Amino acid sequence: MKFFKSFKAGIDKISVENLKGKVDAIKETVPSKEKEEKAKDKDKKEEIPEGHIKCPSCENIIEKKALGHYKICPKCAKLFRMNAKERIRTVVDKDSFEEFDVNMESKNPLNFPDYSEKVKSLQEKTSLKDAVKTGKCTIGGRPCVIAVMDSGFMMGSLGSVVGEKITRAFEYATRNKMPIIVFTCSGGARMQEGIVSLMQMAKVSAACAKHSDAGLLYVTVLTDPTTGGVTASYAMLGDIILAEPKTLIGFAGRRVIEGTIKQKLPDEFQTAEFLLEHGFVDAIIERENLSYVLSDILKLHNVKKVGEN
Ligand SMILES: [Zn+2]
Repeated sequence: MKFFKSFKAGIDKISVENLKGKVDAIKETVPSKEKEEKAKDKDKKEEIPEGHIKCPSCENIIEKKALGHYKICPKCAKLFRMNAKERIRTVVDKDSFEEFDVNMESKNPLNFPDYSEKVKSLQEKTSLKDAVKTGKCTIGGRPCVIAVMDSGFMMGSLGSVVGEKITRAFEYATRNKMPIIVFTCSGGARMQEGIVSLMQMAKVSAACAKHSDAGLLYVTVLTDPTTGGVTASYAMLGDIILAEPKTLIGFAGRRVIEGTIKQKLPDEFQTAEFLLEHGFVDAIIERENLSYVLSDILKLHNVKKVGEN
């Protein structure tokens, strides 16, 4: 009995300490009022002229046009986020993209409050139905299936539509013995779709395994940010994993991890460069070279050009 009491006291102590760590970690992620007000003041002071954008890295005000097709800061080479359409335009051969499942949209499976309205307003704003575009195309004349996630639609979160479209893209590639390239960009699973969202991780991974069993090539290109359930499933399953420079790649956020393990993490933690050093990423490719590198990878894997024997 005495043993049991001390054992129980030990457990209580551990749980309380654990809980305290978690609460602290959560507190850190909630911005304080003071910080929020400071940020507001800053926004007020600085007026950015129309057609311009402030580079979050070098803080220069830059004309949007000056970013060019590749959306790169001319002053500091920071990569701005690309939407799916821009990405496709810079990677695939001109006019070769044929989109799959163009009109698939979410049905709000949990009847989550305000979710349908949010989806609708984003559809109008982005002219996307959800956070991914899938289809077939050629790159350097070589045919492949492609899926490109878009952070402009609910932070590229993985919900039923994203999961289903990527699964179908894998199935199409398997049926037609084609390679597939997936550009990932995501804040993680879509909380408004709860468990339905989480099951997409297993569903896409299963389709990916069948594609792999058929001996076909799968390349992932991790773009900023690739986090949460997307990292924990198909982003890390590529036969070849490429990333853009300085991409944020991780599962949980830095502060949550630091709060849990009670250790300070290195500054470069969760960057593409850190992951390359630790073997999670095969190569970091400059944005302007992606199309060329992908075409070379297809060639090396014996993907024939259209019309070539
Ligand atoms: Zn810059």
